[in-house]
Amino acid sequence: MKCLMCGKELKEGVVCKTCQPKVTENFCYEVAGCDVKDPGNELWSELISDLTQKGGRPSDFKRYAIELANIIESDRSIFVKINCANKYFPRTTGVDGQSEWFLMKKADECINNSKLKKEEKNLVNALVLYVHIKNYEWEKVDALIEKISLDDTYLEPYYVLWEYYKRIRNYDKALEILKKAKEKFDENLEKTEELLKETEERMSGVKKHWAPPNTRMKDEFFAYLDKLGIEHETMNNSKKLKTSQKDLKPFNIYKNTDVPKDYVAFWITSEFHFKTDIPVELSAVKVVNGDVKEYFHQFFKPLETPKAYKNVKKEDCENAQPIRNVFPDFIKFSAGQVLVSLGFSEQKSSLGRLVRYSLMNELPNTVLDVIQLFEDISDDFEIYTRESLLAKYKVKEGKNGEEKAMATVKLIEKLR
Ligand SMILES: [Zn+2]
Repeated sequence: MKCLMCGKELKEGVVCKTCQPKVTENFCYEVAGCDVKDPGNELWSELISDLTQKGGRPSDFKRYAIELANIIESDRSIFVKINCANKYFPRTTGVDGQSEWFLMKKADECINNSKLKKEEKNLVNALVLYVHIKNYEWEKVDALIEKISLDDTYLEPYYVLWEYYKRIRNYDKALEILKKAKEKFDENLEKTEELLKETEERMSGVKKHWAPPNTRMKDEFFAYLDKLGIEHETMNNSKKLKTSQKDLKPFNIYKNTDVPKDYVAFWITSEFHFKTDIPVELSAVKVVNGDVKEYFHQFFKPLETPKAYKNVKKEDCENAQPIRNVFPDFIKFSAGQVLVSLGFSEQKSSLGRLVRYSLMNELPNTVLDVIQLFEDISDDFEIYTRESLLAKYKVKEGKNGEEKAMATVKLIEKLR
């Protein structure tokens, strides 16, 4: 075989002893990003003319660069290989299919390598994120996306995040990222301009929203959008999921300044998953004529699996029914009574989700916030919060949903 660089006959290896010292990290990058027409490197130009005579393509140079990176004797050689795989193809983002397996296999090693700079690790993470986005692996996307930062070193993380925000139809964010990229980087300006144009076209409806290619992937994607609270077309063929707060009529707020005779105090427990609170449990206490009469309790199988179960047990949710199957039972249970909440501003979005996911247009009940009622009719407090109310009347907040709903009953009864 011949030396990759000077063409001298070799017994083994890819580079001769003369060329070996010239293979530096930067040289590898140079080769990876090499332009056939304008090599810009003396050492390389001879081989390029040889390669182009044989019909060489830019991608060949990237492969040469990756092979060269193999002979760099440094702790950074894996990163160099990954970055070489990323370096060419300015028209696309991320590494190509052939280098993908290597990236996915070696990414962790890079992330844990103390010889790499923060921004280099960030680049590797961004390239991995791109693979997840490309493969519609939304759970994995969620686990990684908040780790990606935008700095002045690499353009790729900008393109990867743009791709993500374009897909989830957050065009404001997608535009913002591209504008920053345009400001900070001279490289690939033409592509940045093109992406800016594409984003604006999608924004104005000239170009359609991005969607995955087949039905199953679409369903998964729409479930993901729904979890993010983003509007989309349809969930499945039979039922349209109400996806946005805008699909709901506003809550009817209880306007009187006395404690209702009959009411239902409730507490919705949520778990957190990527910017969103997911309702997982509903507890309620029915009060008739001031006396506790009946309890309601239900777990929900969440639409998306929370990162971690902190407030309820995982198996309780996994064995539960989806919201749309069981929330109607609560509507029956509450029988049009006033729903009482301790701090409705915090429970509002969860209650909205229960209503929306049950395919209802509005909540038939009126909602009363105990904190608001105290504020309206009592001057006893400097500040009106859940904590100040509980403290004054020495009521324990409770640890689970049922106890919290019960604490709500105890507090509102103080006003009767
Ligand atoms: Zn050589």
